[in-house]
Amino acid sequence: MDFRLTPEEEAFRQEVREFLRQELPADWAGADFFGAEEAGDSTREIGRRITKKLVERKWLAMAWPKEHGGLEASHMQQLIYNEELSYHAAPGGGGMGVAWVGPAIMLYGTEEQKQRFLPDITSGKVTWCTLYSEPEAGSDLAALQTSAVQDGDDFVINGQKIWTTGAQYSDWGWLAARTDPEAPKHKGISTFVVPMDAPGITIRPLVNMANQTGFNEVFFDNVRIPKENLVGDLNRGWYHVAVALDYERSGIQFYARARRTLEQYLSLFQEQHAAVRRNPQTRIELADRYVELHVGTWMSYRIPYLQSQGAIPNYEASISKLYGSEFAQRVASTGMRLLGSFGLLGPGSAYAPMAGQIGQSYVQMVAATIGGGTSEVQRSIIATRGLGLPRG
Ligand SMILES: Cc1cc2nc3c(=O)[nH]c(=O)nc-3n(C[C@H](O)[C@H](O)[C@H](O)COP(=O)(O)OP(=O)(O)OC[C@H]3O[C@@H](n4cnc5c(N)ncnc54)[C@H](O)[C@@H]3O)c2cc1C
Repeated sequence: MDFRLTPEEEAFRQEVREFLRQELPADWAGADFFGAEEAGDSTREIGRRITKKLVERKWLAMAWPKEHGGLEASHMQQLIYNEELSYHAAPGGGGMGVAWVGPAIMLYGTEEQKQRFLPDITSGKVTWCTLYSEPEAGSDLAALQTSAVQDGDDFVINGQKIWTTGAQYSDWGWLAARTDPEAPKHKGISTFVVPMDAPGITIRPLVNMANQTGFNEVFFDNVRIPKENLVGDLNRGWYHVAVALDYERSGIQFYARARRTLEQYLSLFQEQHAAVRRNPQTRIELADRYVELHVGTWMSYRIPYLQSQGAIPNYEASISKLYGSEFAQRVASTGMRLLGSFGLLGPGSAYAPMAGQIGQSYVQMVAATIGGGTSEVQRSIIATRGLGLPRG
């Protein structure tokens, strides 16, 4: 593998950097790692402004086909773009609509569904949430019980979803529901698009351990949606959910964000008394994180490389997600040790180093090894698909 960027890729990186330099405030401390859902009004406003500019440049869904409003950007270009946005902790961007709802509609939707939903995604007009997990179905998603029963020209939905990120701010939901309770569990699921303001939907925000309300419980009580909202074939939803989408999923966001954080730790460290700077434990810990940053970054670059060769990354993406999420937790722990009791100070405190982000990211990063598939699930994928071991 050749790790060097082409001159065009390098120029594109500079263009993205320059764009962010112009759009972000000079004292920008960074948006929340898990998106703008938790952001205050000013961050949300900056996010809206940046999204508008990204739409103008067609960067919002740059990997999408041109006919659907994208640029057909290469995998490496997407990686560079995601790397720069994550490094600068920029708010805005296309969220789940760009990442998987739009691609699924492109693959499985009717022509009418494509016309209706895709332009609103590429123009950043509409926010989507993902309604998969349930109280009794997370890692074992195929156990989901929320039902969608056909009744004339409608489907009637009943059940409960949980951990739905951003449901309270979303216009539409991408739903997996059981349509055939008699079929084997993977074969009785279908996918739907649901307006989040439909009568019978109740959204209840959940408070996480960082005292934020990013995700929610969503209750469906006889919610009626027209049968035109079924996406793809009836009872084939599992395959629509599980499909390996050919878009950037390298886990680069963990590494890019950590690179910036480590740079901030170093400048904080340089300001300390010489005796603190000589502390061997801290020096060793920072050196370890630095090595891990390089290892992880190269692993994440392998994903677009494989994609550019026509391969669909599978356990390789699990390796990057597993290593990146656990690395992000170690980076946050290192920050807490560096700062001692100052690490407990949150945003808004005049005495909080790094705008109070360290303590916050220490508690937020607990979720990194759960969301998008837990570490145990990633290890299981690596064991079976990567190492060829039998299922546990
Ligand atoms: C920040 C965040 C955002 C999220 N956003 C969304 C969202 O927008 N939409 C949505 O639908 N869901 C969302 N989720 C839910 C997420 O997908 C689930 O939390 C995740 O899949 C794990 O499921 P669970 O919480 O039910 O845990 P469980 O599946 O109940 O797992 C509990 C523990 O058991 C372990 N375990 C389970 N099965 C096995 C096994 N076979 N072998 C070994 N160990 C196992 C797990 O690793 C874990 O440690 C989000 C989660 C987080 C943390």
